Amino acid sequence: MAGRVNASRPERRIALDRAPEIRETLARTGPGSRAVAGPATGGDRPPGSSGPGAGCVPLRGLRGGTVAIDEGASPPGSRAFCILPFVGAYVRPDGSVLNCCCQRSPLGNLLESDFEAIWFGPLAGAVRRASLTPALHPICRESLGCPVLPRLRAGEGPDRVVGPLGWPTALSIALPDRHCNIGGESPTPETACIMCPRAHPGFDPPAGDHTDLIVGRLARLMPHLEELEIHGVAEAFWKARIFDVLDGLGYEAHADRVRVATISNGTTLSRETRRRWLGRCPRSRLLVSIDAATPATYRAIRRLDAYEVVIENVRRYARERGPGQALAIGHNINELNLGEVVRMVEVAAGLGVDALQMNLTIPLAPGIEPYLIGPRNAPAFADAHGRAVRRAAELGLPLEFVNPLELPAPGPGLVTLPAPA
Ligand code: SF4
Ligand code: SF4
Repeated sequence: MAGRVNASRPERRIALDRAPEIRETLARTGPGSRAVAGPATGGDRPPGSSGPGAGCVPLRGLRGGTVAIDEGASPPGSRAFCILPFVGAYVRPDGSVLNCCCQRSPLGNLLESDFEAIWFGPLAGAVRRASLTPALHPICRESLGCPVLPRLRAGEGPDRVVGPLGWPTALSIALPDRHCNIGGESPTPETACIMCPRAHPGFDPPAGDHTDLIVGRLARLMPHLEELEIHGVAEAFWKARIFDVLDGLGYEAHADRVRVATISNGTTLSRETRRRWLGRCPRSRLLVSIDAATPATYRAIRRLDAYEVVIENVRRYARERGPGQALAIGHNINELNLGEVVRMVEVAAGLGVDALQMNLTIPLAPGIEPYLIGPRNAPAFADAHGRAVRRAAELGLPLEFVNPLELPAPGPGLVTLPAPA
């Protein structure tokens, strides 16, 4: 199991290797959300983004003795409440394999089993079968932040048509929680970003790095993939780790087909890193997470005097990238940076990124809690939301709120859904 926060309040215990994805997923479940989702962020693909059965490949490559047990239970044309159990694999630093970052428990562990034994195994098959019913499987129904559950609560029906069972077409690999240049391998509340779980006083991830072993066992998925994400609670460009992962996967042979994505804090996007990344990954998505529009705020949140460096790195990246290399900036909004939302829009527009994404900061470390949205400051957040929207419209910049800057509506607890027939 990956590192966990030993918080004093049990309800704040979180799995650190899932934190960014959880943050995104939790936010996405709020009203008005419309973020493009993927297996790595725990979300289903938005309606209309792919045709019926898209993403599923014909059954192939099975080894002798492997049984595709749900081939009959989910024949082509079946409708699923979530497509991820059919197409998505999310692998944690400890080798755990899930369909997405939200699931409560893994389907298996790559350090103990081959991927195909997990993917075509009985638990994965049961999850697939259950995803054809509104009850879902318990590991989905009792998940943290599953974006499908609110849709079920709202009475929505299945909206994804399942193709023939095949290998996953979307793979996300989370790097170890220790792997980040901000705070380094032994971060403290003073050295890691203020909102990061790495800044939690109880941060204590396990030592060791299984990435090479995990990647080696995932390489055979490459011929089937359409989407590949490499991040985690980590900085994938630090020490050029993302390139080691791409090498280990044999990505080069699939670069023209597989879109590869990551999230960066931007400090690592040096000339050499940009040259390697842009040269090797003609189809890519990069989100640079900044959270500030001034050096002082950047320092308060990110602990470094690096705002200008990040901005210059993004500016150069935007100029140097090719047409298949998407670039966006992300800001998590709290009281420390609330007054800078309009400036964030203007900076992003000036840099020439494709889009700007904003989200509410959520409590993953105690240091940020005094600055989060609450009843006291909700009007200021709503005002900032409006100002950002208006300025983005004036500048023609696509602005996406993973979650609007407003207090989330009080949500009901998980409802009890009917069991599968
Ligand atoms: S239904 Fe399951 S696989 Fe789909 S998003 Fe929710 S937890 Fe993930
Ligand atoms: S860049 Fe900051 S938020 Fe991201 S993993 Fe590192 S310490 Fe955490």
